[in-house]
Amino acid sequence: MSAIGNSAASRDKAFVLHPYTNLHAHETQGPLIIERGEGVRVYDDANNAYIEGMASLWCVSLGWGEERLVQAAANQMRKLSSYHIFGHKSHEPGIDLAEKLIGLAPVPMSKVFFANSGSEANDTAVKLIWYYNNALGRPDKKKILARVRGYHGVTVATASLTGLPNNHRDFDLPIARISHADCPHHYRNAKPGESEEEFATRLAEQLEAQILAEGPDTVAAMFCEPIMGAGGVVVPPATYYEKIQAVLKKYDVLLVADEVICGFGRTGNFWGSQTMGMQPDILTCAKQLSSGYLPISAVMVSDAIYRACVDESKKIGTFGHGYTYSAHPVAAAVALETLAIYQERDMIGHVRDVAPLFQRRLRALADHPLVGEARGVGLIGAIELVADKTTKATFEPVGRAGAVVNGLAQEHGLIVRAMGDSIALCPPLVISEEDINQVFDRLTKALDAAIPVLRG
Ligand code: PMP
Repeated sequence: MSAIGNSAASRDKAFVLHPYTNLHAHETQGPLIIERGEGVRVYDDANNAYIEGMASLWCVSLGWGEERLVQAAANQMRKLSSYHIFGHKSHEPGIDLAEKLIGLAPVPMSKVFFANSGSEANDTAVKLIWYYNNALGRPDKKKILARVRGYHGVTVATASLTGLPNNHRDFDLPIARISHADCPHHYRNAKPGESEEEFATRLAEQLEAQILAEGPDTVAAMFCEPIMGAGGVVVPPATYYEKIQAVLKKYDVLLVADEVICGFGRTGNFWGSQTMGMQPDILTCAKQLSSGYLPISAVMVSDAIYRACVDESKKIGTFGHGYTYSAHPVAAAVALETLAIYQERDMIGHVRDVAPLFQRRLRALADHPLVGEARGVGLIGAIELVADKTTKATFEPVGRAGAVVNGLAQEHGLIVRAMGDSIALCPPLVISEEDINQVFDRLTKALDAAIPVLRG
């Protein structure tokens, strides 16, 4: 122990393998240890306060210290602290939550499958799609499309769907039968002078060409986040979903809406699918389902998919998929209470009230010398840092500018997230206008302080 030292930071370096961390840099840098949270702020072990501009990882919608969620968990812990729903067992928190989600779905959905994370929900969706096509006697219709810069998780299948090189490199991914369509980022990928609508038309044509090249009888589904989150908060161009959905329908390709970030009010509607005009066959959600207080995720499926799975199960027996903690009663109780709070406090109404200020201040940052684009919807957004606003040239090496601004924001008491050279903001939904102003005041100071570092 003496060689390691007793501080939490040295023990962290000694024992913790960190997710999504530069492992080499961490050996020198060590961790920022967060000790407690209150409202939209978290506090480190030296009692420094930070506004959590990312709601942890896009999830703590109600902020920290929501006593009703603590009580919901404690009450359920006392009553039935753990149980499963395999083999015809069930329990009320799971049933209630499934019923509630079906009632809230953006399009008619038939059944809910529960898992523990966004990755597991999407992994389940992949398996359901394969099961469904086997049930329909279409063993070749199994390929799945996602998009460059899309994010769907880190399991073997979902990391394959994720369209970010770092999730594939050295992990021997993607697996077979998964490919990526083009990223609908107008700022980076549109041709000079191309309008949003023209860009959307071209993306839909490219999607159709891709499906035809793969063979329409082999393409089963496409995964889309309504607004891409971890790929840098990309808002697709106007008319995009309308146009790509027409292509998917034409070739009988299912649409999966990955609502892991966009669900539960983030974009100013209950679902991102509503904001973006999507009619998914499968919807996955997680994160804000429980305000991030406990791990729980859900997959909703259309009746056509459910019915085919039932028919298959009639032939082969048990549906061979499920997690020990599918519909964990404590997580389900916390999710139910979270949904009750959203309704009672009119969370969507609050987002609609404060989002105009958030978006106004976000877009004003486009005038900053380091910012090429400011983009977002509702209470989610990002700025993209560039070395040259006219040519859109990035700073070299890519990622450094993001890391610099990220670090300076933290020094100014604001937690943001750098994805390459995009800086994302996704604060708790409960954030006040006063705190929104503080977020942008602090981010502006961090950007100003970054100028001499990046240009110096
Ligand atoms: N889908 C999306 C859109 C996400 O943003 C994430 C996580 N950021 C995931 C899936 C994976 O969720 P998890 O980390 O809970 O596995």
